[in-house]
Amino acid sequence: MPDFLQRLTPTAAAALVQVLRLFVWLVLLTVLFVPLERLFALHPAKVFRKGVLTDLLYYFLSSLLPAMLLAIPLSLLTWAVLHLLPAGYLRWVNGLPLAVRVVLSLVVGEIGFYWGHRWSHEVPLLWGFHAIHHSAEHMDFLVNTRAHPIDIVFTRICGLLPMYMLGLAAPIRGAAGLVPVLVVLIGTVWGFFIHSNLRLRMGPLEHLIASPAFHHWHHTNDDPSLFNKNYASMMPVWDRVFGTLHLPGDRHPQRYGIDEPLPKSVLGQLMRPFFRKR
Ligand SMILES: [Zn+2]
Ligand SMILES: [Zn+2]
Repeated sequence: MPDFLQRLTPTAAAALVQVLRLFVWLVLLTVLFVPLERLFALHPAKVFRKGVLTDLLYYFLSSLLPAMLLAIPLSLLTWAVLHLLPAGYLRWVNGLPLAVRVVLSLVVGEIGFYWGHRWSHEVPLLWGFHAIHHSAEHMDFLVNTRAHPIDIVFTRICGLLPMYMLGLAAPIRGAAGLVPVLVVLIGTVWGFFIHSNLRLRMGPLEHLIASPAFHHWHHTNDDPSLFNKNYASMMPVWDRVFGTLHLPGDRHPQRYGIDEPLPKSVLGQLMRPFFRKR
């Protein structure tokens, strides 16, 4: 560890390492998506478009705060699972290959995420938090980060709960702790991809794995009949099963965002759900 980090308290050093790690991720994401979004742009867009600084602030907030808020509930959940599920079952689940556990976790996690996300649209209290994510009027990879920390915490708990309840994340062997980390990592990277401003169609594959077109329809403000579709983050099959799929093969949304006015400042946006009239 560098000398200057050793002089800090362990908590401050850990926080600084986390911020530096986020900077590295931001550089990697920028190097990957900015050229692709210029070469294969779905809609004409500038790199420094309206709201880019707001989204950069959200990038750090929505990475750091939910991780802190989730640490205790997830530890309690792990403890409960280890005590409530039969030991023989836990040993069997943890004996499955890591890839199998990750794929199973992604599949069951998508059901939890689907419903968490759908409730965020259907329950007025939750919509107050989720509206921030839908306020984006232009789509690109960075819009993935525009979200209230409470919104992220809620949908992430919904997404992780099935995996924990099935014992797929219980760390009774060293590598098992990797499962939730890999699931969140894969989901986050895919989140940047599906928000990106890319003119990319994947044919029948789009019904198996979420594409930018699939998620862009979730953000459309073209017509109220198209609202509240495509809740899944990775697997459109759950939208087909629960009757919310909208994926025309030859069209893209023209307008994004919501008609609800939101405060301009990030602080105002973060506070708004707590004082919003319903
Ligand atoms: Zn949504
Ligand atoms: Zn989105």
